Amino acid sequence: MSDHVLVINAGSSSLKYSLIDAASGEAAASGVVERIGEPEGHHVHHGTDGESNTSLKIASHEDALRAALKAFETHGPSLDDIEIAAVGHRVVHGGSQFADPALIDDDLVAAVNDLVPLAPLHNPANLEGIQVARRLFPDLQQVAVFDTAFHQTLAPHAYTYAVPLDWRDDHGIRRYGFHGTSHAFVAAEAARLLGQEPADLNLIVLHLGNGCSAAAVRGGQSVDTSMGMTPLEGLVMGTRSGDLDPAIHAHLVRELGWTVEEIDHALNYESGLKALAGGNDFRELSISREAGDARAQLAFEIYCYRIKKYVGAYYAVLGNVDAIVFTAGVGQHSADVRAASLAGLERLGIQLDAERNNTSSGEARTVSADDSAVAVLVVPTNEEWQIAREALSLVRLAEA
Ligand code: AMP
Repeated sequence: MSDHVLVINAGSSSLKYSLIDAASGEAAASGVVERIGEPEGHHVHHGTDGESNTSLKIASHEDALRAALKAFETHGPSLDDIEIAAVGHRVVHGGSQFADPALIDDDLVAAVNDLVPLAPLHNPANLEGIQVARRLFPDLQQVAVFDTAFHQTLAPHAYTYAVPLDWRDDHGIRRYGFHGTSHAFVAAEAARLLGQEPADLNLIVLHLGNGCSAAAVRGGQSVDTSMGMTPLEGLVMGTRSGDLDPAIHAHLVRELGWTVEEIDHALNYESGLKALAGGNDFRELSISREAGDARAQLAFEIYCYRIKKYVGAYYAVLGNVDAIVFTAGVGQHSADVRAASLAGLERLGIQLDAERNNTSSGEARTVSADDSAVAVLVVPTNEEWQIAREALSLVRLAEA
């Protein structure tokens, strides 16, 4: 029986895919189709032949998935040789309804559609990917894996905003949290690295990529997280502001005559590191910083200071912390961010080992000193594998 799951992550103008062995995590193939709907699109496929690049016009998500299937035929692996056991879709917002992955049927599609007002930037694209895959793979079981699901264990005092009752009751305004697939994967891997059961550990997980979020995980369950009703809240990110005074919205409307769309766009796409340092790529920021660029240095300090505040907050929330875990592009690769974010926290039992922290590696590893009461770990995330595992286990359960 095949364990291979086709994982699909559909964005507004892109479609990422990977064919993953859910048992081993090995990707038999992966690819991304970008600039869907633009005059010239781009398709990269990693298959049996290595990497192949194609530039062509791709009118729709359906064309994108057809291009992916053609690449499987041309560049391998052949889908006649590797049977697809299920299709797993990343869905950003599952609202309060979805604490677990769900089999996709018409009702599921309607439910995700109902959540579009909460995630207007993400859910429509995810739905498009689902609809296209249902058309092209009518006989395969498909599963939605929600970015919000892992955080459905938050207690009311952690997820409730102090706003009028009808906002909360009638409009779903509460904290949901995101990056749940990554936090779940990383928390489980951290337990494995420490040789302990997830149920016995309190963790602070820091997912620092282009999007950034922190999670407090007690006994394998999320008890708090920094992203809120949308992925805008919390840490400073590549292009998102993270936390800010909500009155700034009113000020921009009242004093500057800005529209809601302009404000939404600026806070999601023109803020964060991009606003502070001129670009959202952390590698470039690091180069500018090393060259003495004062803007890049301040951006770095703001970024790390915000992380430190969340570490302190979640330390208090958990009471006792076994490990702080860094993941995603910046978390895995920037020793400077790890060092600056945890500097001065020795009294909390957090002590990095400089040499371990400065050593690059693609493996999960410990970067704290042997006598650090709190372990500090670097754990590469693998959201595609987590989606593949969750999708396959649900499909197997449904078949049993
Ligand atoms: P992700 O969203 O997980 O792909 O992370 C993307 C972010 O990680 C970008 O800001 C990259 O510049 C950053 N990143 C990737 N590799 C490195 C590296 N070697 N050093 C510092 N930042 C990196």
